[in-house]
Amino acid sequence: MTSRTIVGVTIECIQGDIVDQLDMDAVVNAANVQLAPGGGVAGAIHRVAGPGLARECAPLAPIRPGEAVISGGHDLPNPHVIHCLGPVYGMDEPADELLAACYRNALARAEETGLGSVAFPSISTGAFGYPVEPAAKIAIDTVVDAAPSLKTVQRLRFVLHSESDLGIYGRALEGSSV
Ligand code: ADP
Repeated sequence: MTSRTIVGVTIECIQGDIVDQLDMDAVVNAANVQLAPGGGVAGAIHRVAGPGLARECAPLAPIRPGEAVISGGHDLPNPHVIHCLGPVYGMDEPADELLAACYRNALARAEETGLGSVAFPSISTGAFGYPVEPAAKIAIDTVVDAAPSLKTVQRLRFVLHSESDLGIYGRALEGSSV
């Protein structure tokens, strides 16, 4: 676990599962265009949330790369899910800006809803093929840059599935400049 507090906003990196974040107001879904159940993070979230999540999401789709929409959490332990569509690496360009927009827009949805805490997975680095080193730097730099302007969100968590991804995100957090 790596943690840093920047102007009162705590950012932490842990190894774990996005559906086990009991103390977070929202979890972020690495969604697909149709906001439908699928593999990876989206599969796990929809499996635990139950069919009500897909029903709520259907009218919100399609979304474009970089966008984020918010829904209820249904049977998840979290009151909300923020669905982000990351860029497909090598296809959606400019990939770095679209990935940064995911994190910024997720935080915007959280602030509009008055949430205090949000947990993110590593968006785009699974099925969408974004290399994890640059993706981690973009993710961490974007939330560190946003931290001073956050009003309601006070806790951010990156939940990494693998030990190696935890190391990469943790080093990006330790090396980020405020
Ligand atoms: P994308 O389609 O945006 O690439 P994926 O869901 O395929 O998203 O994968 C994103 C990252 O999340 C990958 O590193 C993957 O290993 C990881 N991951 C998959 N399932 C979970 C889970 N249940 N909790 C946290 N991370 C997960």
